[in-house]
Amino acid sequence: MKNISIAIDGPSGAGKSTLARAVAAQVGCLYVDTGAIYRTIGYYALTHGIDPKDGAAVAKSLPDVQVELTYGEDGLQHMLLNGQDVTKEIRLPEVSLYASAVSAHRPVRDFLLDMQRQLARTHSVIMDGRDIGTVVLPDADVKVYLTASAQARARRRCAELEQRGTPEPFEKVLREIQERDWNDIHRDTAPLRQAEDAVLLDTTELTFQESEAALLHIIRERTHL
Ligand code: C5P
Repeated sequence: MKNISIAIDGPSGAGKSTLARAVAAQVGCLYVDTGAIYRTIGYYALTHGIDPKDGAAVAKSLPDVQVELTYGEDGLQHMLLNGQDVTKEIRLPEVSLYASAVSAHRPVRDFLLDMQRQLARTHSVIMDGRDIGTVVLPDADVKVYLTASAQARARRRCAELEQRGTPEPFEKVLREIQERDWNDIHRDTAPLRQAEDAVLLDTTELTFQESEAALLHIIRERTHL
């Protein structure tokens, strides 16, 4: 049977990863978190003293960067950077802004494009990111633009940080979310935007269970999954 591809795009903190992972398990697709790939390049810049906003410097470093996406025995996606598992490290808060900055450079996006498309050629996937429906998989079977207000996203992020035992002030979290939104929307290369044929799912007023049910409904209406 033909591989199915489902593209989920939207701003930071809209709950894309958690929702996409939960739904992928139910419909039997491979979940691909493309943000983790950009985070891996961001982490490389951070640990090698490269200014992530300096496009030329970042591009020059790419031949030294080997990024691999693998799935562990736990079924979870792992990122390898030059052979080293950096899955945990790329979640450090300081890596977020580095990832956002490096992802604005075209050479970085071109460098990672094939890897993402190859996964969709060989598997049925639910892929989440910023430009999956617009650039990476323009022919995806289902496209969803998942969003929520910046305040709602900041509130959820604060709750998550508190649960992890690393609370941060709401204002700071909100500012960072707004800064990443601005970067992602205003960059010249593959900016964050809703694809014309994407279904809009706004989860501002929805619980996790309601969002999950809505996403499943959108997918099942359009595929045999
Ligand atoms: O999704 P996550 O927040 O982990 O992504 C980190 C950063 O990577 C985002 O802020 C965004 O700038 C970038 N990104 C991107 N294109 C994607 C996925 C993520 O530019 N497909």
